[in-house]
Amino acid sequence: MIRNSEVKSILNRFPKFGDFSIGLEYAPRLPKGIIKETKEIVAYVRKFNDEVVRPNALPLDRKTHEDPDYLPYDLMKKANDWGLYTMWIPKMFGGKGKNLPSASFAIEEMASACVGIANVVMVHYLGFSSLLTSFNMRVTNRIIKDVLEGEKNGGPCLIAFAITEPGAGTDVEDMELVDRGKVVCRAERVNGGYVINGRKVFISMGHVSEWTVFYAYTDLKKPSQAMIELVVRKGTRGFSLGRHEDKMGQRVCPASEIIFDDCFIPDDQVLIDSYSIKKFTGRSQEEVMMKHFDMLASSSKAGVCAMGVGVARGALEEALKFASETEVKGKLLINHEWAQCLLAEMYKNVVLGRLAYIEANNANSHRGIYEMLQMKPIFYYLKYMPKSFFKMLSPMLNMNMTTWAMSTMYLHMKKSEDVNLTSGTSSLAKVAGSDLGIRNCQLAMDLMGEAGLRHDQGVEKRLRDSKLLQIYEGSNQMNRVTLFKGLIAPFFSQARVFNEGREDGI
Ligand SMILES: Cc1cc2nc3c(=O)[nH]c(=O)nc-3n(C[C@H](O)[C@H](O)[C@H](O)COP(=O)(O)OP(=O)(O)OC[C@H]3O[C@@H](n4cnc5c(N)ncnc54)[C@H](O)[C@@H]3O)c2cc1C
Repeated sequence: MIRNSEVKSILNRFPKFGDFSIGLEYAPRLPKGIIKETKEIVAYVRKFNDEVVRPNALPLDRKTHEDPDYLPYDLMKKANDWGLYTMWIPKMFGGKGKNLPSASFAIEEMASACVGIANVVMVHYLGFSSLLTSFNMRVTNRIIKDVLEGEKNGGPCLIAFAITEPGAGTDVEDMELVDRGKVVCRAERVNGGYVINGRKVFISMGHVSEWTVFYAYTDLKKPSQAMIELVVRKGTRGFSLGRHEDKMGQRVCPASEIIFDDCFIPDDQVLIDSYSIKKFTGRSQEEVMMKHFDMLASSSKAGVCAMGVGVARGALEEALKFASETEVKGKLLINHEWAQCLLAEMYKNVVLGRLAYIEANNANSHRGIYEMLQMKPIFYYLKYMPKSFFKMLSPMLNMNMTTWAMSTMYLHMKKSEDVNLTSGTSSLAKVAGSDLGIRNCQLAMDLMGEAGLRHDQGVEKRLRDSKLLQIYEGSNQMNRVTLFKGLIAPFFSQARVFNEGREDGI
């Protein structure tokens, strides 16, 4: 028998390399209400899939081949009418305030029918998360008012997120790499704001979003210390949209080029710059930006994992349907043992992928961006307080004190162990989910033979769609390095990550 004192000493040793998964440690502390709420959301999304996603998935993929300029306004209108663009916006901003980890389950569900359409709906939350993790509550509150208004009047108001530049993709994914990239998006300080010049590429939903959160640099020679976050509205003078990519998959979701040509952004659209950092946190620009990106990426990478799991599940469902209807050597394919092994392998991949995003979301709930919202009393308080209460609170969001308090709590006080845990776990999920998506498409094709290659069977499209998941939100190679940096290197004092040209390494 293990004695109590021994249990205590084991617990005190945390964290050690290879310790308990965060899920095992944290899951019992989650409020039970989250499960019920998440099941209701999944049921709602299943209905949305039946009525909107499935009937459109293949026809729209074909349409985008015939008309590469196609933009998904009809889909956006439907998602807006179904209330999906405010579903995961916290109640204090006026949204429906569903628990944030439930977004991953919704993404999986939608992506099981079409990952391109799932992105048309969900990449808006990448834009929203980049607002939220700036902790500039006044600017965030103002933009969310437009999103709410858009839902009320039937004209969707979406938020895009733009960081990638023609010469800097992977390099802008980590503050320790940004000085290596060739960033060109320049911000010049002028009276009352910034003038922006430069270009961003591969911006999901750029052409159809009303607002775009973006990053620029006040000094192109030292970007890590000069990065600022701003937001621009469509139609602003000096802001224009270039081409959108004719890409391999997820064709229904445009990836846009955006161009800044002497574009003036007023101070009330600046989310983070050196002045706000000084005023609200007193930390270095590099440190604040690093924490901002960690929180943002930790939530969005769990979402990309869920997309991969959705693809993996969709491929499994197609394979099962095929195996249940097709006879080989006088009996149904589903009754051949080799086919059963293959289908079992695909099922296993879905479950493992799902566990990976649950693990990332638990890390975010335990030590990251969802920490407060998932605490039992706060969760129930937010769930059951009437709307009028949140309306009363809204003016508080515009006060400097609120931005100061949120910045201090999240950008100032977060420890590096927390950052390592959330970023490492979310990179693990991102790599696992996106690789398993591809793997299941290949297995489905193995099972289905020539039928799997036909467009009308849907697996061919899923394979094209899922390849993109391995690239965005940081390539999988880069995310493996981030996993190493967050979850392995801290336990091995000899390990150095991104230390090329830097003395300090990690
Ligand atoms: C469909 C799609 C949608 C996208 N949507 C958005 C969006 O909404 N907003 C946005 O800002 N961006 C978006 N992106 C951009 C995306 O984030 C980048 O494509 C991604 O970060 C990779 O950058 P890159 O393509 O420039 O590759 P590069 O950075 O040029 O990398 C090329 C290769 O080198 C490897 N590599 C480079 N550096 C390292 C390193 N240090 N360690 C290990 N390997 C390395 C990479 O893994 C990759 O294999 C999107 C991309 C796609 C494909």
